[in-house]
Amino acid sequence: MSDLTQVIAVINAGSSSLKFSLYEPQPDALRFLAGGQIEALFTAPRLIAHGADGGHVDLPVRTEAATLGHEAALDALIEFLRVHFTHHTLVAIGHRVVHGGARYARPVRVDAEVLAALERFIPLAPLHQPHNLALIRVVAARRPELAQVACFDTAFHRSQARVTQAFALPHEFAERGVLRYGFHGLSYEYIAQALPACDAKAATGRTVVLHLGNGASMCAMRAGRSVASTMGFTAVDGLPMGTRCGNLDPGVLLFCLDHLGMDARAIEKLVYQQSGLLGMSGISSDMRTLEASDDPRAREAIDIYIHRIGRELGSLAAALGGLDAIVFTAGIGQNSVALRERVCRDAAWLGVAIDPAANRAGEQRISTAASRVTVLVVPTDEELMIARHTRAVLEATAATRPSP
Ligand code: ADP
Repeated sequence: MSDLTQVIAVINAGSSSLKFSLYEPQPDALRFLAGGQIEALFTAPRLIAHGADGGHVDLPVRTEAATLGHEAALDALIEFLRVHFTHHTLVAIGHRVVHGGARYARPVRVDAEVLAALERFIPLAPLHQPHNLALIRVVAARRPELAQVACFDTAFHRSQARVTQAFALPHEFAERGVLRYGFHGLSYEYIAQALPACDAKAATGRTVVLHLGNGASMCAMRAGRSVASTMGFTAVDGLPMGTRCGNLDPGVLLFCLDHLGMDARAIEKLVYQQSGLLGMSGISSDMRTLEASDDPRAREAIDIYIHRIGRELGSLAAALGGLDAIVFTAGIGQNSVALRERVCRDAAWLGVAIDPAANRAGEQRISTAASRVTVLVVPTDEELMIARHTRAVLEATAATRPSP
């Protein structure tokens, strides 16, 4: 038995870059060791990392000349561990996989059969799923001894009722997998696990969580379980986002096809990359830039964003039959004092009373003592959620394996 310390890697693999975090399992916790990203996977791969102490490492990736793409990423990660964590050994990789379809309601250890099932979901998430799976395939081929666990953005929402998941389309569409899946599930699950330590009413009652980052969605939870969410079949539905349009009348897409000479790829670019805060403002997808701008279009983009949050909040409160708490999280939710204040003021009719001083001071609870609805700001940590799942799946697998 090796006396090296075990490491779990968490990986979010994209088309040209890959984010990673490394954790050391300890008896009651997972200690963050380092994190970063490997960029320019197909051109000149480079690994940039920071340690738990904030120390910074920037390494060009040294690989065999022929190695690029996800193979280079695996080489880079293993080399990084070898150089910087000489007393550690990688035992498992937890992957963020965007789509688990209707089948996976929890994380799963990946084997050939699971990988084949996940490949069947590629048409449901063509922009993300292939890249998530590419690295899994490389690891399975080159380091088969490493345990791999797939953690899904959709899984947390499988608790939603059938009426919530179904579209009003002929029923054979549901059989083809056309359902409202919901995303950002790893973030919502992390928040659900964090809430008992923050506020009992938010943890056990009717709570809407606002995950407002570059991607944005909202989730209605009852006692920490997903009841409804703003994202649907794909991660382009619901709220406007940095560059995605969110909720859109399908008639707009038919108009684009029939009268604007756009094909499916042009529409895909429009709704995923050219819309949202960027498209509305014509300036930036970044909320900080828009908040700092005097341009009327920047102001209008923020107004529309907040208006849409308010409408979705009403809809999710209706799905819950009332509202006990709201929770802000992710880049905008955690950091934009102005946005939180405006969203809460618009929600006064639901019983929300914000404490502006607490909001400005960055406190966890930003509602007044008299507010019927508790308002919290809770930082999310999707990577830690994946590391927890990976550890749990590993331990469960070890427990069920017959002793030698
Ligand atoms: P991702 O979805 O890529 O993980 P994040 O959760 O990091 O994104 O959120 C990014 C968004 O958070 C950007 O729009 C950024 O402008 C916004 N943001 C970060 N800090 C602030 C801040 N201090 N004030 C307003 N918005 C902020």
